[in-house]
Amino acid sequence: MGIEFRGVTKRYPDGTVAVDDLNLTVEDGSITVLVGPSGCGKTTSLRMINRMVEPTSGQVLLDGRDVRESDPPALRRGIGYVIQQAGLFPHRTVLDNVATVPLLSGWGRRKARARAAELLELVGLPAELGKRYPARLSGGQQQRVGVARALAADSPVLLMDEPFSAVDPVVREGLQDELLRLQSQLGKTIVFVTHDIDEAVRLGDRVAVLRVGGRLAQYGSPAEVLRQP
Ligand code: ADP
Ligand code: ADP
Repeated sequence: MGIEFRGVTKRYPDGTVAVDDLNLTVEDGSITVLVGPSGCGKTTSLRMINRMVEPTSGQVLLDGRDVRESDPPALRRGIGYVIQQAGLFPHRTVLDNVATVPLLSGWGRRKARARAAELLELVGLPAELGKRYPARLSGGQQQRVGVARALAADSPVLLMDEPFSAVDPVVREGLQDELLRLQSQLGKTIVFVTHDIDEAVRLGDRVAVLRVGGRLAQYGSPAEVLRQP
């Protein structure tokens, strides 16, 4: 499912222009990375896809349709979202954190738990960790649970906002490899936000470089982006 930003500008009420006339196509089935320094509008751009933020002008299209035609709750059920602090429910086990998503879309408890167990395996977590509470997992393991929960939405689109930034470099590489492996199986449309150009080049099929002021500075394959000064 492709995503298109057409002349999108976001000006916050205090006058900050976070995104300035963004034109960008996220190709169906690609990992497109938005990269740039803190404050260049990456998170704002991402959140305009699931309507957590509304553009001041311009349009965001999902699969050719303006996202404003969909109710935000319905839209968000169809778009996985992973953030830096995995945001797990502390009083539910790991398995139930993931099972919550299929439960909310009407699956029975047994089926939802079976699906959650499959997803934990898919993201490389040993089954016995499913019984633990999130606080008893390492940061990297919690991020894997966050990814599993986002995948549970079974949506063609996944938004990832600095999902691996809070973990140490070795764990981060493992998570990146896992994401690439998953993507080769699942072929989702992933928009991935990071401030780390190495991560962008490693993960992206396409890389969009933003600069402060919210303008698109470069867009292309990792090789093309690295070639330019
Ligand atoms: P990034 O994700 O690249 O760090 P953001 O999209 O979070 O950038 O922010 C872009 C700019 O918009 C920054 O100057 C930030 O301070 C500002 N900004 C973000 N959210 C708000 C908000 N709710 N109100 C006002 N300004 C905001
Ligand atoms: P992130 O870690 O994703 O960049 P921030 O810590 O910058 O997020 O922002 C956290 C929250 O505060 C977000 O909801 C963002 O929209 C809001 N925010 C960020 N910058 C500003 C700002 N200058 N004024 C008001 N709200 C802001």
